[in-house]
Amino acid sequence: MALIVAKFGGTSVADIERIEIAAKKIAREVAAGHKVAVVVSAMSGVTNQLVEYCGKISPLYDVREYDVVVSSGEQVTAGLMALALQKHGVPARSWLGWQVPIHTSEMHGKARIEGIETEELHKRLDAGEVAVVPGFQGVTGRNRISTLGRGGSDTSAVALAAALGAERCDIYTDVDGVYTTDPRIVPQARKLKKISYEEMMELASLGAKVLQTRSVEIAAKMDVPIQVLSSFEDHIGSDLPGTLVTREEDIVEQEVVSGIAYSRDEAKVTALGVPDVPGVAAKLFTPLAKAGINVDMIVQNVSADGKSTDMTFTVPRVELARAQEVIGKQADLKATKIVTADNVAKVSVVGIGMTSHSGVASKMFETLAEKGINIQVIATSEIKISVLIEEDYVELAVRALHAAYGLEEKKKAV
Ligand code: ADP
Ligand code: ASP
Ligand code: MG
Repeated sequence: MALIVAKFGGTSVADIERIEIAAKKIAREVAAGHKVAVVVSAMSGVTNQLVEYCGKISPLYDVREYDVVVSSGEQVTAGLMALALQKHGVPARSWLGWQVPIHTSEMHGKARIEGIETEELHKRLDAGEVAVVPGFQGVTGRNRISTLGRGGSDTSAVALAAALGAERCDIYTDVDGVYTTDPRIVPQARKLKKISYEEMMELASLGAKVLQTRSVEIAAKMDVPIQVLSSFEDHIGSDLPGTLVTREEDIVEQEVVSGIAYSRDEAKVTALGVPDVPGVAAKLFTPLAKAGINVDMIVQNVSADGKSTDMTFTVPRVELARAQEVIGKQADLKATKIVTADNVAKVSVVGIGMTSHSGVASKMFETLAEKGINIQVIATSEIKISVLIEEDYVELAVRALHAAYGLEEKKKAV
């Protein structure tokens, strides 16, 4: 008998039929003797619609009220899931974020979970009741509803699994595991039986939205095994049919490149003609950091005249309006012009094996050059290389790189 947390994403609870299918899976786990806490997302499309409503009122909306609006999608599914479980003979009740409670930071729109009180949940689980918890939401120290950033139900599930001391966190989604790249773009992508926390974290942070990055960070820190599996197949998590995200030492076979990730959630900002003197980067990036805007890739051009230079960086596309507003207020930055573009995307090659192999970057640049794809910005770390390109070429780039690194076949080195 184990305690399992099972999370169902948007497409897995898209309508009443899907919710009932999910409920039947939970009923099977319960019948097998397991205690189960279920975490649910909003029905697919609902969160997008709610985000759109807020943006229509104002692009610079109050994020505290945004959280009240966008968290509502998960509330609906939690109630419906509890009803579906009851219908299938499983005692169940819903627990909203503030009822558990799930405590979070004050950073509305992308809050972090700081603690989860589990005493009551444990009592109910021990009594044989399934707990249904809406993902994505929590409550701040000021008693306001918060949300965890897009894709945040994964993080709710893993954090709950860690807090409850669950044996495993099953993430039911619309693909049957983690692949070498997005299988919707590259049909030849290969499913990975296991992937290390480190690589999954990198893939997720670079855009592989199958898991939210923060969920993998928590799993790694708290040693929670995650299993990614399809809710569209007739198995349940205890059959272990998906991809296991686990510790590196548990993975026998390591490849140089384990996957290709992409993100369309990017926007590029260039500050033209800023003075080439100490302190300029701080003038630009400190206010952005204070406003909670994550700056990702950065390049500073060589100064042609020794007096002024251009600085280019990327921010999440959803935060471009806010970033422009913040930069616009920095009069002492003395930029001649601020230019922005949101038709850009980031493509990344990821692999732990890169640390001990050379030639990975050159292969990436050659492959993109062969396809005539221009690289705008490059960023590297020990286990990844990312490039910023025009968004129209993202699928072409991902397919070409996937083939170039031989990811569809097994054991082919670069
Ligand atoms: P959910 O609604 O269940 O949370 P998401 O849409 O957030 O599902 O995440 C699942 C999607 O992630 C898949 O449909 C797939 O298109 C995408 N994806 C991107 N990269 C990968 C990858 N490397 N492996 C599997 N899926 C991926
Ligand atoms: N419903 C939220 C979103 O669409 C959270 C999630 O599904 O994980 O981002
Ligand atoms: Mg998701």
